[in-house]
Amino acid sequence: MRSHYCGQLNETHVGEAVSLCGWVHRRRDHGGVIFLDLRDRDGITQVVYDPDTQDSFAIAEGVRSEFVVQVKGLVRARPEGTVNPDMPTGRIEVLGKELKVLNAAQTPPIQLDEHVDVHEDIRLRYRYIDLRRPEMVEKLRFRSKVTNTIRNFLDENGFLDIETPILTRATPEGARDYLVPSRTHQGRFFALPQSPQLFKQILMAAGMDRYYQIAKCFRDEDLRADRQPEFTQVDIETSFMDEEQIMTVTEAMIRQVFKKHLDVELGDFPRMTYAEAMRRYGSDKPDLRIDLELVDVADLMQDVDFKVFSGPARDPESRVVALKVTGGASISRKEIDDYTRFVGIYGARGLAWIKVNELAAGLEGLQSPIIKFMPEATVNELMKRLAVADGDIVFFGADKAGVVNEAIGALRVRVGHDLGLVRGNWAPLWVIDFPMFEEDSDGDLTPLHHPFTSPSCGIEELAANPGAALSRAYDMVLNGTELGGGSIRINVPETQQLVFKVLGIGDEEAREKFGFLLDALKFGCPPHGGIAFGLDRLIMLMTGANSIREVIAFPKTQSAACLLTDAPGQVSAEQLNELSIRVRERVKEQP
Ligand code: ASP
Repeated sequence: MRSHYCGQLNETHVGEAVSLCGWVHRRRDHGGVIFLDLRDRDGITQVVYDPDTQDSFAIAEGVRSEFVVQVKGLVRARPEGTVNPDMPTGRIEVLGKELKVLNAAQTPPIQLDEHVDVHEDIRLRYRYIDLRRPEMVEKLRFRSKVTNTIRNFLDENGFLDIETPILTRATPEGARDYLVPSRTHQGRFFALPQSPQLFKQILMAAGMDRYYQIAKCFRDEDLRADRQPEFTQVDIETSFMDEEQIMTVTEAMIRQVFKKHLDVELGDFPRMTYAEAMRRYGSDKPDLRIDLELVDVADLMQDVDFKVFSGPARDPESRVVALKVTGGASISRKEIDDYTRFVGIYGARGLAWIKVNELAAGLEGLQSPIIKFMPEATVNELMKRLAVADGDIVFFGADKAGVVNEAIGALRVRVGHDLGLVRGNWAPLWVIDFPMFEEDSDGDLTPLHHPFTSPSCGIEELAANPGAALSRAYDMVLNGTELGGGSIRINVPETQQLVFKVLGIGDEEAREKFGFLLDALKFGCPPHGGIAFGLDRLIMLMTGANSIREVIAFPKTQSAACLLTDAPGQVSAEQLNELSIRVRERVKEQP
């Protein structure tokens, strides 16, 4: 039906007879001639019908936006003065000879020929129209190209693309499972994989040596942040490689993707320990484009007359930090109030600050609601440590370490953006030496990554002090976003059993849930490790999209629904009966 895509045509085609197929992007009636902007996946071409071609002209008069048509005509150079240099096809037009309506369209709920803000719900419900927009086509095309580069890279490096099951058992990655009832095993459920973690490890036990998969993962999380219940990972596992080698190969992969698709040289990625990242940035995924740092000042605050500071300063589980913002004295009271509310989201109970108006004037030159509680010597010491200058502001965080890190870590990023302190476009790094475990709110240990991560220390040391153990895990971070995370895995059953024990998973439960893994570790499982990259996030960062929903063809809403298909949907009584399932109202938990 078609000789060219609309976007392909240029001056070299002048004089050629072409046949184009696509959607009517816009129709303009210019006193006697009709212009159709014809759009397909590749771009837009202007087609002109004049009354000489009577039949086609009559049809052209009747077409409307989003009609699907076939155009036959002759490419010609646009007349002087009508060239559009902003359009790839702007030097030519097609003189229409024939026009066939392949399908009509009702007035679309989304206007495509001009930039209008449409509510996202409408865009998701009519996704097939939304995806016709050139920006959306571009994002999906970009995604396809990147995926292709990744596949080629991994293929060239000896990785095998192996699929793993979707109907499986729960793999703990820290989220709730999506469950699928079994009809053939009444009362039993499959879980959709939170990741292919255990299968890829089993593939290593099977001797596959290097595996990858562009894998769908399913996590039933409360979708506060920009997350999706199903998302895509570039999932990788290798045998006989240590963390250095795994980081080297996968870093090369990401570098190649950036070079090839954005012409960006990322260079060598710096390494930073988890402890350093938390200390300096309050985050295990620091945005290194922002040159602001948390500075510990607890030692100066132990004896001040201000309990908000002195309490945490004396508590080993708390932190007192200062965040100096160069030039930040211009921040208004109203903005400070906004920041105070902002840190409140993370549990901070206030936001203390000092503005440095004139350092040479001593206390007089400082403006702050808190310095009256501090001895002058302490204030001087503080100013010296922070190396402040006139025009700076210093914010403070004092609370349990977790609250301070989250609140002041987030404030650092927010202020950095607000004050235009973001330098450069790309700041990748590796974060290493993660702790094995962290304490949850009940004081129980939970894995920082997942329970199959190998400790850095031996089994005796791990048993003696699990809370202090570090792991052989590594995260790749880009611009404050975790792009990927992985680790060397446990490959001996004794260590795996010990980790289960630390996590409060008894022998029986471990056997029941992970017996197959424990068995696999017994029959000659090689040392192995891997990593998984979030493909949606990678594409989002690379395209500058402001949400992962913009780079997924059919994303779900924040409440995990698909507006296009109206899923999740009701099922028939018969289907439920086959599964022996009866739906009843949720029992409200007693407070
Ligand atoms: N399975 C891990 C995850 O989904 C990645 C890995 O350890 O390879 O985060």
